[in-house]
Amino acid sequence: RIAYVNGRYLPHCDGMVHIEDRGYQFADGVYEVTAVRNGRMVDSDMHLERLERSLSELRIPMPMSPRAVLAVMEETARRNRVRDGIVYTQVTRGVARRDHAFPKAAKPAVVMTAKSMDFDGIARKAGEGVKVVSVRDIRWDRCDIKSVSLLPNCLAKQEAKDRGAFEAWMVDDEGYVTEGSSTNAWIVDADGRIVTREVSPNILNGITRRALLQLAADAGTEIVERRFTLEEAMAAREAFLTSTTSFVMPVVEIDGRPVGNGAPGMLTERLRQSYVEHATAV
Ligand code: PLP
Repeated sequence: RIAYVNGRYLPHCDGMVHIEDRGYQFADGVYEVTAVRNGRMVDSDMHLERLERSLSELRIPMPMSPRAVLAVMEETARRNRVRDGIVYTQVTRGVARRDHAFPKAAKPAVVMTAKSMDFDGIARKAGEGVKVVSVRDIRWDRCDIKSVSLLPNCLAKQEAKDRGAFEAWMVDDEGYVTEGSSTNAWIVDADGRIVTREVSPNILNGITRRALLQLAADAGTEIVERRFTLEEAMAAREAFLTSTTSFVMPVVEIDGRPVGNGAPGMLTERLRQSYVEHATAV
């Protein structure tokens, strides 16, 4: 395996990060996970746009032009012979003597890795659907920034795993689902509309979420962007989650209770098909 580290392609095992990198000391950095299908980056424009936005919210300069970032992503995938998989991109504020306030002259540190993924395995999983458990959302007020500070997300995912589930849906103090630990949350309401939480600082605006909203709108599916409670999700006709690595994944159980008839929903399946076509066609 090959890693891109600050301008160089190195054997993965030789990719080193400085002990005073602020990403390591303060989680002072951001990341993107971009899918690769048939050797092409999926929705790269939206990923680059979100990377720029996350960096700008943290006042970290973009380390190179978006076009150059894309070229490095493609080259990292190519050097790892990844035709179907993901590229991981991380940018931190860089190396500086430890001090909470921003250093005056740090150079952003950029790391990229790539790995193959078994998208057929994901498709098989989607045929059965996955279980979700609810956990309290203990994160901060800027979940719209794709920051590498992911400890609450890791705790949530581990709890899901411990409880035999695929994902944890995080619930805010008012009882509304925010999103999954690494996915966006959706339901289909009694009128057959798809519902997902509106964009705000409380969720990450997923690229899969954005792409699917567009595909659903193009297909004439009714969409409502609003928050929904855990109770509403449990009583929903269908439920699903979206992310770069899961695509559109049916949710068939929430906290041990079946969603709908306990099988993947029909609208969910249609949306999944249309997303897979979209991702494969880019
Ligand atoms: N929400 C959170 C907290 C995430 O970490 C992710 C992806 O990692 C998502 C949602 C889904 O975003 P995307 O569709 O861009 O992968």
